[in-house]
Amino acid sequence: MPDKPSKIAIIGAGSVGATIAYACLLRGVAKSIALYDVNSTKVEAEVLDLNHGLQFVPMATLEGAADLEVCRDADVVVITAGAKQKPGQTRMDLASANTAICKDLIPRLLAVAPNATLLLVTNPVDVITYITQKISGLPRERVFGSGTVLDSSRFRFLIAKRLRLAVQNVHAYIAGEHGDSEIPLWSSAHVGNIPLHDWAVQNHGKLTVRDRTEIFQNVKTAAYQVIQGKGATNYAIGLATARILEAVLHDENRILPVSTLLTDYHAISDVCLSVPTIVNHTGAGQPLPVPLNDAELAGLRNSADTIRGVIRSLGF
Ligand code: NAD
Repeated sequence: MPDKPSKIAIIGAGSVGATIAYACLLRGVAKSIALYDVNSTKVEAEVLDLNHGLQFVPMATLEGAADLEVCRDADVVVITAGAKQKPGQTRMDLASANTAICKDLIPRLLAVAPNATLLLVTNPVDVITYITQKISGLPRERVFGSGTVLDSSRFRFLIAKRLRLAVQNVHAYIAGEHGDSEIPLWSSAHVGNIPLHDWAVQNHGKLTVRDRTEIFQNVKTAAYQVIQGKGATNYAIGLATARILEAVLHDENRILPVSTLLTDYHAISDVCLSVPTIVNHTGAGQPLPVPLNDAELAGLRNSADTIRGVIRSLGF
């Protein structure tokens, strides 16, 4: 019997969910994509529009409905449903409303897609990942969040721009919360095998302390800037999520800073946050033992405390 074609289900057909579907179609990530949203008019319109472009992308089918049945037997379910930041709101401001959605959704979702790996995108993503892990009772590797994959790509873009290099040659991560307490891992960042701290190349400059401060500030405020201008962030998160889905469905063993439940990671436990992690067909593996200097370790612990504080305030 031929292998069952891979299926992605996306919960929430808003700006983020619809753009993830679009990015997955363009990249040929899965043979079958399903969109689910409580707003039937919205999901049906998004599906119609996406289906009208099927001729121009790798072979795939796409369906959508306001009925969870459309997600049946999905291999991976991406969760984007819920409230989004309004201008001036932090991601943590969404915690209570989006936790309520997860409490209702996750058991019903697992009834139709019991073998799925769950990829959380809804904010505050670290909090929502932890809560989904607890509600679902699934193994830790099958529940993880997009975490700081997006923030790290913003970080790399800004470093590459300053140094006038291809973004693909910059290896640098943002770790911790996908939010205001996140931290840049400068000490292990490198470019073309040269530690970023040592980088000084004619016509490609070097990063001063001021450059670093500006770059990280820009990463932290990027979402606020985009939301102020157009009401939502969608393209970069769409591409980042498609890349994470590829790592799972194509069993890539790709290193990505996804948000997972940590146990004794540099003495941090019982919280979801992002550090570089190997992602493959089983989901998110163990976080990598990235070397951290004292400031980075303190920053990561502070970020863990911030996320844990919100989790506890929600009664988990
Ligand atoms: P949006 O308002 O455009 O879309 C949200 C959609 O969820 C709506 O269509 C709504 O009908 C639907 N929805 C609400 N409750 C639902 C339920 N119970 N079941 C099914 N669908 C439901 O918002 P958006 O811009 O697409 O953002 C979605 C989420 O993604 C937000 O929480 C946002 O903060 C988050 N986000 C995360 C990242 C990241 O890097 N993790 C990046 C961007 C946005």
